[in-house]
This record gives sequence, structure tokens and C-alpha cells, in this order.
Amino acid sequence: MSRSPIDVLFGHADMRCTICGAPAGACSCWTRCACGWTYETGKACRNPNCTVSPRVTIVCPTCGRSKHMLPDPSDPPRTARILLDCPKCIRGATTTIEYFDAEGNEIDG
Ligand SMILES: [Zn+2]
Ligand SMILES: [Zn+2]
Ligand SMILES: [Zn+2]
Repeated sequence: MSRSPIDVLFGHADMRCTICGAPAGACSCWTRCACGWTYETGKACRNPNCTVSPRVTIVCPTCGRSKHMLPDPSDPPRTARILLDCPKCIRGATTTIEYFDAEGNEIDG
């Protein structure tokens, strides 16, 4: 049975940091999120259901489908919700994108 990189990363003896090669725990390349996942220090937790790190909700105004995404660096600060046509609903090259904060106020992007 071959070990996947994720097995090496989580849990087995003789772990080493996959970023700098230091023995596990000896460096600060990784941050343990309160949700239990580990992520690269300085980046956001990648757990799609993380309850700790902020998530933006992207909603398609046409079909109503939504999904949770990590905030994008290009998003305005405080973005909590984005109205954006999903790939199925985009018609042509023009689509509007609107940003809203957690209170539902539109953010001028
Ligand atoms: Zn490291
Ligand atoms: Zn998390
Ligand atoms: Zn749609």
C-alpha cells in the first residue's frame, strides 16, 4: 500500500514539514485551525466547512445556486456575499458582480 502525501502530512511518526523540511512542530509553517484542519501559516483554512475562518457566499442571482468560497484577495474588504452569475447562467461575456457585507449592504467595488 502506498502512502499518499496526505498520510505523510497527517499523523505518522517521523513527520517532517512539507514546506521547509524541519521536523514536525519545529517550524511555524503550519497553523492548526480551531476546526481541526491544518493550513499554511498566513493563508486561510481550506476546510470548506470551516466555522472559524471567514467564508464568502457566492450566489447566482439567476438560478439561486450558492456556494461557500475562500475570500479572494481581489474582493473588497468585508465581503461576505457575492452576487455573480454561475457558469451555467452567464450569457455572453457581460456579467455583473455585486459585493455585499455581512449586514447585506452593497459594497462599492
Ligand atoms: Zn516548516
Ligand atoms: Zn478551519
Ligand atoms: Zn445560475
